[in-house]
Amino acid sequence: MNPNRSIQERIIALTHRLPETVRLVAVSKYQSSEAIVEAYDAGQRIFGESRVQELIAKQEELAPICLDLMWHFIGNLQSNKVKHIAPFIHMIQSVSSRKLLDEINKQALRYQRRIDVLLEVHVAEEETKQGFLPNELVDTLREIREHAQDYTGVRLCGLMAMASYTDDEVQIEREFGLVADLYQQIRNSDLLINPEDFEELSMGMSNDYPIALRKGATLIRLGTAVFGE
Ligand SMILES: *Cc1c(COP(=O)(O)O)cnc(C)c1O
Repeated sequence: MNPNRSIQERIIALTHRLPETVRLVAVSKYQSSEAIVEAYDAGQRIFGESRVQELIAKQEELAPICLDLMWHFIGNLQSNKVKHIAPFIHMIQSVSSRKLLDEINKQALRYQRRIDVLLEVHVAEEETKQGFLPNELVDTLREIREHAQDYTGVRLCGLMAMASYTDDEVQIEREFGLVADLYQQIRNSDLLINPEDFEELSMGMSNDYPIALRKGATLIRLGTAVFGE
């Protein structure tokens, strides 16, 4: 990454290189509203945030000026905070438990919305990384399907994952490969209520997104590659 490039130049360079099937999520955590507006003016529409308070403050400030900006929540989300973002959030990518999914569904219905969600899969080695283990995910999908009529507040749009934080590209590729296989397995199963909604695979950050693209990512989440260090 060239540190002398502007946010605008980086966005244009990145989006030109991406296949048409892939969308960029500009991860704007810790970034100022000015930086977000600069990216927005360069054509960027999807922004990822990982803290509720920070997101709410930015949303309030930017809603009147960035009219079609879409916020994606990508961080650890406590169930009791869902109500604060439910009125406006476009997608919650980091759904890591059935309890959280149930709360998102409940709050969406309260606001007469349907919220797009991705289920987060745990494939990385670190204990700290959130998410469903692959077999838990399949069980959860089965439970949701059995109670399909209760889940009209959420749209299950696909999977999200983070690879281990490592320089070992073989390991990263293996982890993204596991997620991609699980994604295809689910798409080919009868586990989904609305199979046509399940079409997103969010994986890849600034350090590993070329590998994620090779493994079929449809959403990549880039912070430093867009905004700088
Ligand atoms: C911060 C963050 C990113 C972006 O990380 P960079 O290395 O800055 O690209 C992507 N995904 C999640 C979940 C994050 O928390």
